[in-house]
Amino acid sequence: MADASCTFVLGFATMAQLVPQVGQCLENQHYAANGDAQQTTTGGLLVWRKADNFTAFTNGATTWVNGPEGIQSRPNDRRFCWEADVVPDPGKCGTPNRPPAPSWFTCWDVGEAVCIVADKGLGPAIGDILQFERGQWLLKVAGKARVEAGFRDLPVGVLGAYRPSTKEISLDMHLGRYGDYERAAVLVHELRHAAQDAAGQLTAARCYKNEFEAFEEEGYVWTALWGNSLPYPRNSLQAQLNDIARLAYTDPYGLIGRYLSRYGHECG
Ligand SMILES: [Zn+2]
Repeated sequence: MADASCTFVLGFATMAQLVPQVGQCLENQHYAANGDAQQTTTGGLLVWRKADNFTAFTNGATTWVNGPEGIQSRPNDRRFCWEADVVPDPGKCGTPNRPPAPSWFTCWDVGEAVCIVADKGLGPAIGDILQFERGQWLLKVAGKARVEAGFRDLPVGVLGAYRPSTKEISLDMHLGRYGDYERAAVLVHELRHAAQDAAGQLTAARCYKNEFEAFEEEGYVWTALWGNSLPYPRNSLQAQLNDIARLAYTDPYGLIGRYLSRYGHECG
């Protein structure tokens, strides 16, 4: 029975409006000692967690959450990767649909009990990226999102790619011939896309902005690895990375026009 004297307020009002399963209120929202709020409805229970401003509704089996990608639902025992609370089984967190990593992959420790699954050959490049605070952050975000990075046969001329459906970063096999700094710079570009994906920002509308960010990050790490002065290029890839680092600050649109295709990305 709906109680005419109760009402939905704030985040619960939004949920009640967007999720029909909420139904009518049966009481007003009330607070627990820790500051979290709850409200019983004809459909189930509305909950708000103070610690991370997390609003959800559950009918006992399914939970609807209002997160960075709007209203989404999931089974109660699963979590979206952006949810802050502890995941009972990390395998349940947005499990990417891909085969298990091959034996020559390992989970590289990137700090704070997070590791990132990557080809053993990428260890030194990951170590180079970890030298920088931004790099540590990118690796941690990717590790938490269960991103996997390895070498693959990419179309001719493409150096790196990120596939959101499987959360795979692919670096061109030919990068094996170059140095760890080169691999680190290309990897950082793709890590930036993985971070954008984890934040729900990998949308067509943001495509150019996402590429600016990825190239800027790539140019930053490339320059920083050489002690903040660009190297005399010893191969064509080093010349390209120098160019990317310079253009990221002087002519970002020119940069994207020239190099976007080499990162397996397209903006419509
Ligand atoms: Zn890109």
